[in-house]
Amino acid sequence: MIKRLLLILFVFDLTAFCQAPKLDRQVAVTIDDLPAGMADRLPASEITAMTTKLLTTLRDQKIPVVGFVNEKKLYKPGEVDERIKALQMWLDYGFELGNHTFSHMSLNQRELKDWEDDVIQGESVTRMLLAQHKMRLRYFRHPYLDTGRDLETRRKADEFLIQRGYRIAPITLDGWDWAFAGIYEDAKKRNDTEMQQKIVKDYLAHH
Ligand SMILES: [Zn+2]
Repeated sequence: MIKRLLLILFVFDLTAFCQAPKLDRQVAVTIDDLPAGMADRLPASEITAMTTKLLTTLRDQKIPVVGFVNEKKLYKPGEVDERIKALQMWLDYGFELGNHTFSHMSLNQRELKDWEDDVIQGESVTRMLLAQHKMRLRYFRHPYLDTGRDLETRRKADEFLIQRGYRIAPITLDGWDWAFAGIYEDAKKRNDTEMQQKIVKDYLAHH
């Protein structure tokens, strides 16, 4: 009798165990390289228009998102204010911002000290904007997802990030949108709407 009871309990337990992860499943959506992946080639007005379109959709669909910033992209002469405003929109719309280093520097390509300086330099505007919204800078995403060439570098970088109050944002699925974006932009420039539509279709299928 006791044995049977134990067996039943075990089965119940197992069922609970199998179902729990399904119920708890969540997806965190993040977008990198703000204010825009191609910010160097886009005028501020286009960045603002694109940001408005993107954030309006995300808000309408109730999708919580964290955007990761490369502040170097803000410093285009004559456009700094408008570029910062485009960044601020993320917070005004109710989203969150994180640090993606100042210049999108790879930890695998540069010395740890240079990279640390780039992380710190990448905090200033983002931290200020977050403070205005009573928020704290708490997420970091590695550029190119490069976490260091060796274990020692990786450990030191992790320690550095934790000391500065960061939580590292990992990735499980990468949309590879940047691989489609260049071809799309090229088609757009040539007014090749047929190609544009094909790329959109392929991109959605890829997802
Ligand atoms: Zn990036």
